[in-house]
Amino acid sequence: MKLTSFGEKFTRKSGILELMDDLGNAVAGQGRVCMLGGGNPAIIPEIQAVWNRCLSELIQDGSGLEEALSSYDTPQGKQSFLESLSGMLKNSFGWNIGPENIAITNGSQSAFFILLNLFGGTDASGVKKKVLFPLCPEYIGYADQGLEPDIFTTCPASIEILDDFLFKYHVDFSSLKVGDDVGAICISRPTNPTGNVISDEEVRQLSSLAEDAGVPLIIDNAYGSPFPGIIFEEVKPFWNENTILSMSLSKIGLPSVRTGIIIGRPEIIKAVSSCNAIISLANGTIGQVLTESLFQSGEILDISKNIVRPFYNRKSIQAQNWVKAYMPVSADYRVHKSEGAIFLWIWFRNLKISSRELYENLKKRKVIVVPGEYFFFGLDQDWEHSKQCIRLNYSQSADLVEEGIRILAEEVDKALRQ
Ligand code: PLP
Repeated sequence: MKLTSFGEKFTRKSGILELMDDLGNAVAGQGRVCMLGGGNPAIIPEIQAVWNRCLSELIQDGSGLEEALSSYDTPQGKQSFLESLSGMLKNSFGWNIGPENIAITNGSQSAFFILLNLFGGTDASGVKKKVLFPLCPEYIGYADQGLEPDIFTTCPASIEILDDFLFKYHVDFSSLKVGDDVGAICISRPTNPTGNVISDEEVRQLSSLAEDAGVPLIIDNAYGSPFPGIIFEEVKPFWNENTILSMSLSKIGLPSVRTGIIIGRPEIIKAVSSCNAIISLANGTIGQVLTESLFQSGEILDISKNIVRPFYNRKSIQAQNWVKAYMPVSADYRVHKSEGAIFLWIWFRNLKISSRELYENLKKRKVIVVPGEYFFFGLDQDWEHSKQCIRLNYSQSADLVEEGIRILAEEVDKALRQ
């Protein structure tokens, strides 16, 4: 089959394809698999009960569900949902926004495909613009989304060793340059893969760098405040006219409804909606109708803060304790400070094998993690660190996470003895 360069690019082996294949095979396959790869959120019984309640209310109401199933929304989203969500955000944070500031997409992954290509690539005057990721490593899901080659650039994080167990990345403002070729700055907060949460001050600095350069700051808030609230640091949600904030219903427990939310100034929202129309006519409505009452009442804030956040905080601490308990003493490793998201990011400094080989060895033992290499895209230099880290998802059942970490420790021990 002869494909275009678009076809070649989007069908070749990519990190995100491998990750999603691992996820699908683990679910469909035989035998017990410790699935610590992928980005599936946990199934939290109290949250499931909320979805069940919302669903039965919809069914009882009758017309709401029928309407959702039987008509297309506008490419921007469902008007009543846009109103409920903008009202909640305005009341909670004082942001000067209305429905015209919000667009819905089929998952925030699709939103990033649109945004990264709106601001990265050749512009009308023939100038090639790049999206700058100011803190590398960054989310694997962006890496292959550019329609044009080479539209991402990045800056290695500076590393702070916190103690014998923890380290933390920071934006290295001393080397971060926002050149004329930058079309947007983009960062995930909390960061996938590391669980890092850049500070309010770092956000302010990035925001003013973006403003000075006349480009938007895109903040990917898939895990953050005010929902789903998988964030363990007391930081403030940030939005201003120059910011594009991305949110999602996935990590609160609804990944399959594919509902991404973009908050930005009206011209950005119009651009995203126009792309929606061309790519998919309209978005799935189910996620919006299912959760609308939670945004109207503000209950979404309550369940995020009082159920989701403590749940993941406990899971993270438990997973770190297993790492401490099982990892061989000869392993020179650090875990990134877990400030949010659903992952532990572990840096091995004295393994004789790469994180890719460690991933392959673990896969043979039915433990799936994600090798760190994929998260270092856009770098224009070799960085040894990029082959020394793995990401593991700690949100699955306690016995699987413990077993996965125990087997990881055994494989690390083997690698040290090679
Ligand atoms: N952004 C980040 C940082 C993520 O981790 C993910 C999923 O894992 C996404 C965006 C995309 O999520 P969704 O398309 O389910 O909203």
